[in-house]
Parts: sequence; C-alpha cells; structure tokens
Amino acid sequence: MSVSPIVRSVDLSALNTLGLTCQAGHVADLTHLSQLPVMSALAQRLGLAVVLGEGSNVVLPSSLNRLVVRVQLKGIELIEQRPDAWIIDVAAGENWHDFVTTAISQGWDGLENLALIPGTVGAAPVQNIGAYGVELDSRVESVTAWNIPEARLVTFAREQCGFKYRDSMFKRAGLGQWLIVGVRFCLPRPWQPVLGYPDLLRHPDLAGIAPEAIRAQQIFDAVCDIRRTKLPDPAVLGNAGSFFKNPVVSASEFHALKLRFADVVSYPQAGGSFKLAAGWLIEQCGWKGKRQGNVGVHERQALVLVNDGHATASELLELASAIKNSVSEQFGVELEIEPVVVSDTSL
Ligand SMILES: Cc1cc2nc3c(=O)[nH]c(=O)nc-3n(C[C@H](O)[C@H](O)[C@H](O)COP(=O)(O)OP(=O)(O)OC[C@H]3O[C@@H](n4cnc5c(N)ncnc54)[C@H](O)[C@@H]3O)c2cc1C
Repeated sequence: MSVSPIVRSVDLSALNTLGLTCQAGHVADLTHLSQLPVMSALAQRLGLAVVLGEGSNVVLPSSLNRLVVRVQLKGIELIEQRPDAWIIDVAAGENWHDFVTTAISQGWDGLENLALIPGTVGAAPVQNIGAYGVELDSRVESVTAWNIPEARLVTFAREQCGFKYRDSMFKRAGLGQWLIVGVRFCLPRPWQPVLGYPDLLRHPDLAGIAPEAIRAQQIFDAVCDIRRTKLPDPAVLGNAGSFFKNPVVSASEFHALKLRFADVVSYPQAGGSFKLAAGWLIEQCGWKGKRQGNVGVHERQALVLVNDGHATASELLELASAIKNSVSEQFGVELEIEPVVVSDTSL
C-alpha cells in the first residue's frame, strides 16, 4: 500500500555531516517506490532543491524553500549466486557501511576496501565512491533510477552510467534529474584481494602475509582501522571527507611541475596523465590547520575542511575559494570542489 509522503519543515543541521545550519521548508521522506509519481508532482510544484541521502557529500545553504527528498528505501537481496559472481540488489536508502558489513558477513566479498565510507547506497554511484584502490563502478552491474521530470523508471547498465573518477552521468545531469532507487552489485568470484594501496600494505594485520592467505574480513578490519585513525569523525567534528578532488594533469604539465617542485605527490594514471595529491598542494600553500571564523582546514588532513560548530555554507565556500586561489597561484593547478553545492534557486 502506498502512503503519500508527508511534506514538513525540518532543520537539516543534524542531517548533513558538515553540520551546516540549514532550515528546510519542504522535506519529504521517500519510503516506498509507489510514492515516486507523487514526488515528481511535488518536485514540479515546489521545485526540487536536492535528493538527499545521509548528507555526507553536500554543502547545504542556510535555508531551503524548494523540495528536499530524503531517500529511505530499504532492502538487501541476493539475486543470484553465479560461479563467476554474486549478484545482489540493494535499495538506495540502505546505509553504505551497514551493507558492506552484511556483505562481508555473508561471504559476498569484494567491497571491503570501501568499508566505513559514510552515506547511502543510492548516493554511492553519484560520485562513484572509491577508496584504498577500489572504485564502486568495478562492482556495479546496473543502477535503477527514477527520472524526476519525466516520471519514469530506467535501469542503466554499468557502461551507461558514465562512471569516472568521483563522477558519473547522474552527477553531471544535475540535482533535478535522477533519483536512484537501487543498485545491482556484481561481486566477482573467485574473490581477489586489492592490496596495492600503500597504507594497506603497511597495516600490521596485513604486512608480511601472503596475498593468497588474506581474507576479505581482514582487509575490511584494516580499512576501518586506518580510516578511524586518519579521518575526523563527523559526529565529533563536522566535515564532508575530502573537500577537493585530486586534480588530474597531462604528462607535460606534470613534468613541468616536477621540475619546479621535485617532491610533488602524484599517481600515474592509465593513458599517461598524472593525478596530483590535492592535500599536498594545499599543505604546501600553508593551509593545514588554519582557521577562518567558524571553519578551518583539518590539522592532520589538509584535504578536509571542518566546521567548528556554527558555520554556514557561505563561510565554508569562502574558505574553499581562498584555498583554490592559492593553489592556482602557486602551482597553476585548478582544484575542483568534491561535495555537491546545493542552492535554493531554480535548477
Ligand atoms: C568522513 C567522510 C569520509 C568520506 N570518505 C569518502 C571516501 O573515502 N570516498 C568517497 O568516494 N567518498 C567519501 N566521502 C563522501 C561521501 O561519503 C560519499 O559521497 C557518499 O556516497 C555520500 O552519500 P550520502 O548518502 O551522504 O549522499 P548525500 O550527501 O546526501 O548526497 C550526495 C549527492 O548525491 C545525491 N544523491 C544522494 N542520494 C541520491 C539518490 N538516491 N539518487 C540520486 N542522487 C542522490 C545528492 O543529490 C547529492 O548530489 C566521505 C565523506 C565523509 C563525511
């Protein structure tokens, strides 16, 4: 039975991990697929501000009068146990880390490197989440999404999702177009550990063990351990993880930069380009640990901007802009903000 979504006014300050102050006038929870047509009608009437998961990758303005849809669809189902893969359907509102934990406990290995990333399953394809050598797209079979203006469901095979580094066609389409309702995962069998990331190789629980003797649970535990020590907990200090993407530059740009800055931190990419460590660039500009009013740069992670308690989006974006300018002046490299900046104006 379908229950019409209730539209109410909600203080979203505790529902975004940056903890930015945000009063929203029209918030509706999506708990059942049958509510989708009503959501489209509401979006048309009120204008859509944002489809919200757990708010761990958004910069929200102080007030929002357009519609905010909170995706609360639930369900995890093993569809098929093929000789070459586990096929699993997961609803968009499931918590990402809880799903990874369930998968590992069921023996559906392959997502362990992505443990402890905050947020929902539905948001994961939007920026093609990645960590410790694994990106989501390598584990996705298809994504099912509701086209909000056209009011219809579409299933996209992985190749149609336009996945790139921290990007997908869902992100590029903008905030008013797609509402992801579920993701079908394809976890390859036999399972192969992904251990290339230096922090993982050095972790005491994994160092010195032959790859064939390592289990997915051990990688999951090591990833959780590393993340807990490296990243600030949003429950304690408001943040959205990495605030900037690692910029990718051409081989010629990289070599020119290397001549001027011999210790520039970089990762060679397929095709000859180089990914630069944005955190290193920011740190070199002297931003690490700096405070500006209610916002600042984390003292151990220059890539993480933090809210000391009462910040607004404008304060945070001013700091981000000052950081971008210094990196551009010093290195000639343009940084791009990773979280989605939400505004209350027309989409
Ligand atoms: C401490 C910390 C560490 C992090 N570490 C990582 C990391 O290692 N790797 C990484 O990739 N990211 C990381 N992130 C970013 C974040 O966890 C991911 O981007 C996550 O997928 C966001 O999920 P969410 O549900 O909170 O999305 P939200 O913040 O609510 O939304 C993010 C974007 O996705 C859209 N969206 C959300 N749900 C849906 C849906 N169902 N349909 C359509 N669009 C939707 C929103 O409109 C918005 O554009 C980190 C964040 C924090 C706070």
